[in-house]
Order: sequence, then structure tokens, then C-alpha cells
Amino acid sequence: MQESIVEILKKEILSFYNQPTQVTQEVSPQTVRGHLSQYDFAQPLDLEALLQDVMYMMRNWNIQISNPLYFGLFNPAPTFASVIAESLVALYNPQMAAWSHAPAANEIEQHTLKFIAQKIGYKPTSTFGNFTSGGSEANHTGVLVALAHHFPGYLDKGMWALKNQPVFYVSELAHNSFDKIAKHTGLGMNALRIVPTNSLLKMDMMALATMVNADKKAGYAPFMVVGTAGITSTGTIDPLDEIASFCEQEQLWFHVDAAWAGAAVFSPTLKVSMKGIEKADSATVDAHKWFNLSLAAGMFFTKHQEVVRQTFSVRADYMPKSHDDVIIPYSNTLQWTRRCLGLKLFMTLAEMGEENFGKQLDNQAFLGDYFREKLLQNGWIIVNETPLPVVNFTHTVFESGEKQVDEALSKLYEAGRVWLSSVTIAERKVFRMCVTNFKTTETEVDVLFDNLQQLI
Ligand SMILES: *Cc1c(COP(=O)(O)O)cnc(C)c1O
Repeated sequence: MQESIVEILKKEILSFYNQPTQVTQEVSPQTVRGHLSQYDFAQPLDLEALLQDVMYMMRNWNIQISNPLYFGLFNPAPTFASVIAESLVALYNPQMAAWSHAPAANEIEQHTLKFIAQKIGYKPTSTFGNFTSGGSEANHTGVLVALAHHFPGYLDKGMWALKNQPVFYVSELAHNSFDKIAKHTGLGMNALRIVPTNSLLKMDMMALATMVNADKKAGYAPFMVVGTAGITSTGTIDPLDEIASFCEQEQLWFHVDAAWAGAAVFSPTLKVSMKGIEKADSATVDAHKWFNLSLAAGMFFTKHQEVVRQTFSVRADYMPKSHDDVIIPYSNTLQWTRRCLGLKLFMTLAEMGEENFGKQLDNQAFLGDYFREKLLQNGWIIVNETPLPVVNFTHTVFESGEKQVDEALSKLYEAGRVWLSSVTIAERKVFRMCVTNFKTTETEVDVLFDNLQQLI
């Protein structure tokens, strides 16, 4: 019985991994719910039949981000090593909270984090790093640690005891996880200062300086600036070096949100675009975006290890003791019980080697350029500028209002051949294409382009 199930699973992994199903298939909530209504949990079911049915639903009723025709958000196709690692994690189920319960898994994570820290230009020996559920949690951690650093009384007395209202700064194109963070930390949405972007879609430094100055004069307490390296909608990069100098001068915490594009430090050609990230007090780099891993895993890094400890330390007598010189996740991070998140990154990088990984990123950047070239040669209009493979584009038929971007996208989704998204930049609705899948080649970019040509 168990062996036959492992056989089915093995076949499915090999077949789906090599040939994912169609990138999109439209399905209504009624169809999925109707199908699920047969599961009333009254009688035990045969696991083999159950497995077959779950595979059917997963294959047919999800957007297949591992299909190389997926040009969507920063969602990755997982490496094979990642699929294996996730299976092992499910099997061994290491409990990460206390180091002493999972020395192997915890040290594998720390070993991997130290390597990434060194790649982004942090000193591995003095950097604190941890795996998170994603970029949102990593950004949340950054804000909490910055608060604790800037307002020493805050951890005991709380926000309300502060004399001046804390405020922090992000660009208008920053990720909206900061909206949630503002609400959840108790800072409130009014504490989130939205800095305009310039014509290159990067944070406007003059505007930032003016806003910080005005806030200080008005009695607010600025404590942090977030620079985004790889804006979600446009792939543009805030001026990290300039923000670093500004923060140093104004004594503000500098956080870099490099959730997607942080991986670019592995590419000899793209890494210059991340310059300045090494000066940040803290940084977010997602493992489940450009590192091509199964969801979910983000990473948080900071140079201020002691503040992290103060922010998250708790005493829990029932928790097992650990060695003195190890990082104990439950008292240094937001989560408590946690699965092992780092094994898939460890195995992926170890199998591939850093040089090959860098080449893979370069190839994706090349495909972005290849696509831009095709657009320009055929009268399309590109509206963003970035070395990274995110392309915002439109065409006169959409600019004139003759056709609508979202209607065109619906047609594409219905046909189910390719997937890309749309975004509004400066009140202009445009297409957004991202080469996010390491399996994508020129052939798929050609298919995307041919599909787009049929829309105009
Ligand atoms: C994706 C993304 C996030 C959010 O990360 P999750 O992993 O989805 O939680 C934050 N910032 C940027 C720039 C992103 O691209």
C-alpha cells in the first residue's frame, strides 16, 4: 500500500517537474466547491484514491507558476533540489524553535544565511540572519528592530510612552506589506510617509529630505527609511547609496527591501545595481523569489544582532536549553514553532554552485532585453528602465483607449497559453512582464510575444 503510493508520487513529481500542466485554466469557485463537497470527512478514504484526486485538482485548478510560460509576479519555478528538500523537511519534521531540538537543521540554515550575508556585503561573523515566512515578515522584523534601536524605552513602555510620534519613509512604489506593518506594529498608517518617485521611478531624494525636515520641525520622530531594490511593479531600484548617506547623516535606520532582486548579488553583471545594500542596517531578501525555491521562505539580515536579541528575547522555562554560542530561533525571531525553511536554499546552492546560479540570473536578464528589443522593433512602448528582467509596456491601441489592457489580459488568460499581469504606473495602466522562471528560454518569450501581437 505505502509503496504503491510512493510510486505514484514519484511518477507525478517526475512528470510534473519536467512538464508542468498548462499555465492557466479558468475555473469558477462553484466548480471547485462542488468538487470538494464530496469530502464530508465522515468515512475514512483510501489514500491512493485521495492522492489521485488531489493531484487532479492541483494540476488543473491552479496557475502553474513552474510553467516556463508564466511571466508573472515574482513567483518561482522550484528547483528539483528544492522539491527534494521540502519532502525531507516534511519527513523529518525538525522543530526549529529551540536550537537543541534541531542542531543539524538550525546550523544548515545559519551556514546558508552567513554565505548569503557575505554575498550582499555584510560581515558574516557579525551579521544576524534568520529565515522568515517571506518578505513581509522580514520587513516586519526590520521595522520592529529599527523601533527598538531608535527608541530604547519602547520595548518596555510601549509606543504610547514615546514623546514624539515615530514616522518612517518608503517610496510610493514600495511594497504594500509596509501598510500592513504600519497597522500591525501599532505605528498606524499615518506613520507611514510616502515619498514620491522621480521620472525614473526611483525614490526622489529631494522630496525625502524635505519630508524628513518638515516632520522633525513639526515634532515627529523619523526613525527609518526603506529603500526598495527591485520594485515589485517596475523592477526599478531606489538610489541605495544616496539613501545610505542620508540615513547616516540624519541618524535614521536604513532598511533595504530586496525581496526579489537581492539574488542579483550573485550575478557579476547585475550586482552593481545592488550597490549600497551593504551599507544598510537591515535587509530583506526572499528565498522564494529569484532563488527559485518552493514557497515559502524569506530572509532577514541585520548588523545589529544585540538589538534583535532585545526585541525578541523571552524567558520560557519549559523550552529546552541550548549552547551559549548558538542562535535560538524562538527568542530571536517573530515565529515560535517553525519548520525548516533553509534546507531548500542550502541544497539548491550546493547542487548548483554560485557561479552557475549567477549565470542563470544573467540569462534571465538577457531574456528581458531580448523581449524589450522585440517590443521596440514592433512599435510597442516601454515605460520603465531597469537592468532587471521586469518590463512595463503598452501600445498606442491601449494608450488611445481603443482597447483596454485588462480586457486583453482576460483574453490571454482564457486561452491559457501564457500569463503576465498589468500594473498602474503614474495613472497609466500598462502590461507587466517578468522573466521569473529559470526554465524560460527565447522560445517561450517568442510565444508570449506572438500572443501579444494578436491583441493589437
Ligand atoms: C514580494 C515582495 C514582498 C513581500 O514578500 P512576501 O514574500 O510575499 O511576503 C516585499 N517586498 C517586495 C519588494 C516584494 O517584491
